[in-house]
Amino acid sequence: MKASVSDQNNLIELQRIDTAISSAQHRLKNLPEHELIAAVKKREEDSKVALAAAEAELADVKIDLRRSEVEVETVTDRIAKDESRLSAGNASPKELEQIQHEIATLQKRQSELEDGELEIMMRVDAAKAIVQTMQSDLTGLEQMELELNVRYENAKSEIDREIALKKSERTILVPKISSELVNLYEKVCGQTGGVGAALLLGNMCDGCRIQMNAIELDRVRAMDLEEVVRCEECRRILVRI
Ligand SMILES: [Zn+2]
Repeated sequence: MKASVSDQNNLIELQRIDTAISSAQHRLKNLPEHELIAAVKKREEDSKVALAAAEAELADVKIDLRRSEVEVETVTDRIAKDESRLSAGNASPKELEQIQHEIATLQKRQSELEDGELEIMMRVDAAKAIVQTMQSDLTGLEQMELELNVRYENAKSEIDREIALKKSERTILVPKISSELVNLYEKVCGQTGGVGAALLLGNMCDGCRIQMNAIELDRVRAMDLEEVVRCEECRRILVRI
């Protein structure tokens, strides 16, 4: 196949554009924010599970506290009733003795229950503190996710702009090259992972970085400049400079 020197030079320019596009696409796919956002989301999920468990624990301790408060109220009410019977002054001496004894027993019970209530209140405070810490951890993670999303969107739109620019350069350049050469280039690109054309630098193909032997180099050098040369090793279109 033959192609003008200008077509061959434009083909190298096309290769530069395509390499820039695929490199930008690679960067887009591998933005560090991808993994960071996934990691933060995983931590959020774990944090939500732990928060739900802490909230359930707090609800349980609050029920214990309410039960304890009712027990204390019941005993306090009974003491008040006994005391009012005492102060009414119409009980027999034996009944009075019984009531006083009952009051003493109830007061001992009241004191025990109040100690228990105090202990449960401390457990409620501790459970509340845990819930608050977990809520603020979760809020922090959600904030981090928002910031990472903004960073990701910024990086993405910058790369998208770069790709759009390169694609418009490509659209302008392609019609300047013979379609036969472009078709060959596209075919080789498909076979070589995106690099279809390379420069011959000295005696080395810039595509596969393999040096030509002297005989092959002489043969290539003797060829007409408009002859389309392919690298014997990688089959890429070799453009001589
Ligand atoms: Zn090569």
